[in-house]
Amino acid sequence: MRATDVIVKKRDGGELATDEIRWIVDGFTGGDIPDYQMAAWLMAVYLRGMSHREIVDLTQAMADSGEQLDLSSIIPYAVDKHSTGGVGDKVSLVVLPLVAAAGIPVAKMSGRGLGFSGGTLDKLESIPGYRVNLSDEEFMQQVREHGIVLAGQTKSLAPADGAIYALRDVTATVSSLPLIASSIMSKKLAAGANAIVLDVKVGTGAFMHDLDQARELAQIMVDIGTTAGRKMVALLSDMNQPLGETVGNAMEVREAIETLRGGGPTDLREHCLVVAGHMVRLGRQDTSPDALANGMVELAAMLDDGRAFAKFRELIAAQGGDVSVVDDPSKLPQAPVKASIRAPQVGTVAEVNALLVAQAALELGAGRARKGDAIDPAVGVEVHHKVGDQVAADTALFTVHAADDTGLAQARALLARAVTVSAQPHEALPMFYDTIYGE
Ligand code: URA
Repeated sequence: MRATDVIVKKRDGGELATDEIRWIVDGFTGGDIPDYQMAAWLMAVYLRGMSHREIVDLTQAMADSGEQLDLSSIIPYAVDKHSTGGVGDKVSLVVLPLVAAAGIPVAKMSGRGLGFSGGTLDKLESIPGYRVNLSDEEFMQQVREHGIVLAGQTKSLAPADGAIYALRDVTATVSSLPLIASSIMSKKLAAGANAIVLDVKVGTGAFMHDLDQARELAQIMVDIGTTAGRKMVALLSDMNQPLGETVGNAMEVREAIETLRGGGPTDLREHCLVVAGHMVRLGRQDTSPDALANGMVELAAMLDDGRAFAKFRELIAAQGGDVSVVDDPSKLPQAPVKASIRAPQVGTVAEVNALLVAQAALELGAGRARKGDAIDPAVGVEVHHKVGDQVAADTALFTVHAADDTGLAQARALLARAVTVSAQPHEALPMFYDTIYGE
């Protein structure tokens, strides 16, 4: 087989055979197919799409590209979560300790920022000392001892996804349904979970912009999971405006800590309770009709009485992070330049465009333009208002945290376009649109 033949077939809209998909995935992972040919193939997939059968084959080839984790000796019934990527999405930072505090062990592998969307690993690295790279043994040992681990994908697990993910990030091939579905589900299948909660984002700040596309993505992932014997829940959640009130790595960690201490923005708290509620319900294999509602009440108490925060501290300490920073988040990296962007007129907030806010954060240095770029943990954007809020003229809409005046000016130009203040009333946006079950 030749890489160019497989690229041409997909470029011209053909359906690839199972062995062609496996060959290109294995070839790239093994180093025989170079970045430039894989990038061309990814673009062909991006433009031409894939059939359901091709997506299942791609997922399986990626899952089989490395080892499969067997958690069964440590966690009899393992539950995992994954988000399709959004703006201000710090949900894993809150949900994982919360679920672990409820007695459900969690062993999660997270990713770095992808395109405009932030990554949990980049956020965690704003805590000095926190180790995201654990060996398989360390990963297993930690979940055995602490009931919680939150690390990067180990090299041996779905290595094809690690390599393809980094290439997609810098070749404008992220927002493709087959590539997102196979990326997420290959690692979830390889990571040994019995049940998986998917947070499928939809809106301007998501890879899926409309509900139909997001629903299709959710359904494909649910089908891949159930076919492989997993219990699945996919939440379709709003990402037209940022989640919570901060976008930027250290700022998001600060907000997650506030939420774990019983405070934090209402939308973030509610979102985390729903995701965690499903994870706990699945983890306990509780099929009673009130399982979700009861679980959410129990979890809310854990946010309020310090149990969730105590578990977060335990996680940070176990992975080498400086716990004094968690106890006093003002020690997290802080940007030197701060300035606010104000409402031009009185009215109702009609839009807070999540993509433009994310682009502003990228311009500030919170994300990567090229593979391997360093990010600045301190910079980002505080979002003071949500769609539906009434604001007076000159109210602060955003506070920009910048490294210098150039970054500030670039962010300011984007953020000025991100908000619409209207004379007409506007309803608040829903948090969730739908839930798809595969149980
Ligand atoms: N998250 C992933 O793990 N992969 C994607 O492609 C998008 C979001």
